[in-house]
Amino acid sequence: MTTTNLAVPDPGPALRLLSLGAGVQSTTVLLLACEGEIPRFDVALFADTGWEPRAVYANLDRLAAHAERHGIPVRQVSAGNIRADALDPRHRFVSMPLHTLNPDGSRGLARRQCTAEYKITPLKKAARELLGYPHPRRVPRGVYAEQAIGISTDEFTRAKDSGLRFLRNVFPLIDLGFDRARCLEFLAERGFGETVKSACVGCPFHGNAGWRWVRDNDPDGWAEAVEFDRAIRHGYPHATKQGQELRGQYFLHRSCVPLDQVDLDAPAKSRTKKHLRLISTESAHGVEEDGDPDGCSPWSCRSGEPIAGTGRGPGERAA
Ligand code: SF4
Repeated sequence: MTTTNLAVPDPGPALRLLSLGAGVQSTTVLLLACEGEIPRFDVALFADTGWEPRAVYANLDRLAAHAERHGIPVRQVSAGNIRADALDPRHRFVSMPLHTLNPDGSRGLARRQCTAEYKITPLKKAARELLGYPHPRRVPRGVYAEQAIGISTDEFTRAKDSGLRFLRNVFPLIDLGFDRARCLEFLAERGFGETVKSACVGCPFHGNAGWRWVRDNDPDGWAEAVEFDRAIRHGYPHATKQGQELRGQYFLHRSCVPLDQVDLDAPAKSRTKKHLRLISTESAHGVEEDGDPDGCSPWSCRSGEPIAGTGRGPGERAA
């Protein structure tokens, strides 16, 4: 009996996209494409939460100008301003991973949906539109965009599928054997050694090093974070306006102390071998001494556990 191969040949990607977090790894990927070391991108997409450090926006502007000179457009997509939305009583609840102090003294972490809402959703929407099938049009089978994600070899466990038929993730740094140290070296050689990590100014996943960086390098951002921390002490304005029962207090800092009262310069009480290893290889804002190593990249969020399209990590729990 003869068999017939019914497999349809892969026509290849209709588009090549880069999910640009503007941190160390994705900046390296973009520069590699500019140099022709990896296939060019049709578009690099940056999901803007509206509350990144000034240094990230400055780096993004410089990077975009560089990429455009090499024929790669950088586009910003956005679902709004996370800070303004969270403080707006008329805006639907924005769920950031706030630290919670419950009435019985126990602590928790609020569920995180912000990465999905402010980063992944607008990126998916843009990919559909660029493919020519904006929601609710169905993307035909076989039509897809290849989406490069900046994940280095030292964090390969974060490499995940997008979970979407029309978006196939690829990981050029892993293919090239680039670890984070190699990325830093590569960026320094090209005059991008000052690339700082990308994460919201007021991200509750910052460790002390991250908060110190905001305090010492972005005074306006620090003032905004302190004000935000005060404003959410008893929950988001939208939730309290709805008359939801107060179940404790909310904080940006993991110690559940008001941000402007935390001693950010005190040595960390306990450091794991992993953290010590990270500190020894890192620059000022690249690694937290007691927390998030590398910022919030949409599809490979380094803030907490990998999210793989869901926008939340398995370790997250309701307050
Ligand atoms: S950086 Fe933090 S607050 Fe901002 S989207 Fe990511 S997890 Fe949420």
